Amino acid sequence: MRSAVLLNTSTIEVWPGGLLRARSNHDARLLARATWVLRRKRDGRYLAALAPEGLVPMLPNLHGDAGLDAARAALDRAHRPQRAGIERVAELPLSLLHERLHALGLDDAYGERVGLPLVAEPALLALAGFDRYRRPLWLLPTAARAWAHLREAALRDGIVLEAISGYRSHDYQLGIFERKRARGQTVDEILTVNAAPGYSEHHSGRALDIGAPDEPPAEESFERTPAFDWLRREAGAYGFVMSYPRDNPHGIVYEPWHWCWRGDATPAA
Ligand SMILES: [Zn+2]
Repeated sequence: MRSAVLLNTSTIEVWPGGLLRARSNHDARLLARATWVLRRKRDGRYLAALAPEGLVPMLPNLHGDAGLDAARAALDRAHRPQRAGIERVAELPLSLLHERLHALGLDDAYGERVGLPLVAEPALLALAGFDRYRRPLWLLPTAARAWAHLREAALRDGIVLEAISGYRSHDYQLGIFERKRARGQTVDEILTVNAAPGYSEHHSGRALDIGAPDEPPAEESFERTPAFDWLRREAGAYGFVMSYPRDNPHGIVYEPWHWCWRGDATPAA
């Protein structure tokens, strides 16, 4: 079976057929024949589907969509004969993120204050299975492979690891902020509950929130599970690092469930 990939562009995600749920009977008939589906990141709307007869619009005025050319180019690249390996995945530019952070009033001072860099999205993600909620789990291809190895190794030791969530787009996090701003909350108020858009390791496709069956997701109590005990001993061998230990320098709350794949990092000399 060919492994499924998500083609990522600044404003549109190109999903492989068979993973997105239809929202109408008309959509269902088209999606059943589609090899790829173009989905607008900002609102999740389906823009078009690539069917045997060509690209079929799913919204009127599709051709006014500024991101369409980038999505078509990503599809063209995907359909070219496969070069050896997809290890080196390009990163998308940060220009659109800068604009929208500026519009929110979130400037560079935030990043400087918490000591975190802006995190680019990768141009391609691999299907790494499904999360606890049966949603497709997307990760950087190398991180997806490492996650599979980590899960298998845990299972051999009698430990079941569940993914709570993996890749998240800038748009996803920006959407949360824009909706709360529209309801009258200030950016500082939102920041006490939600991570600033653009600064999450989840944007890179390397980070993974991990849980154990019957445990509540993303709770500090995860640190008392056998799964966490196993991760603390073994995850490093698979390239996974716990990003936010207690008293981390970024002032981010302790997140024993949040692990980031750094298997390609050069060890410090
Ligand atoms: Zn996380």
